[in-house]
Amino acid sequence: MKFDPQIISNIVQILIAFAVAFLVALWLSILFWVLRDIRQRSRDPFMIILAAVLVIILPIFGVILYWIIRPTKTIEEKYQSALEEESLLQELEKQPKCPGCGRNVEPDWILCPACHTRLNKLCISCGKVLELPWNLCPYCGNPQQKAYKSN
Ligand SMILES: [Zn+2]
Ligand SMILES: [Zn+2]
Repeated sequence: MKFDPQIISNIVQILIAFAVAFLVALWLSILFWVLRDIRQRSRDPFMIILAAVLVIILPIFGVILYWIIRPTKTIEEKYQSALEEESLLQELEKQPKCPGCGRNVEPDWILCPACHTRLNKLCISCGKVLELPWNLCPYCGNPQQKAYKSN
């Protein structure tokens, strides 16, 4: 069985063309992936250009380098963790303190157990805990005494 060298060389050329086309497609899709990825992680145009240049110049190693230097969190994740921190801080700030002795008190206490400072008052109608300056109960709508007379 004899092969025509011309046919073999044609087949090899076609295979090489396929391989090149495949590599180019792979390279382009990596480039697109990196560009999409970096845009989720950084709004810094320098970072975006750097990522693109890395991948264009070094098709395989560029991606590895990009993996190493890219910001670990996406903008979305950063936003989420900032929100969580914020709400944690607010939670801490919400913990009320006794104005008399500075101890932590529960928001529904009406007296500080340590120094007996008046913290809240009870609605004269429904008995729910109200803040001292409120002159109207938000639960039942009943007006309260204008100002709380201490003790
Ligand atoms: Zn106190
Ligand atoms: Zn009430």
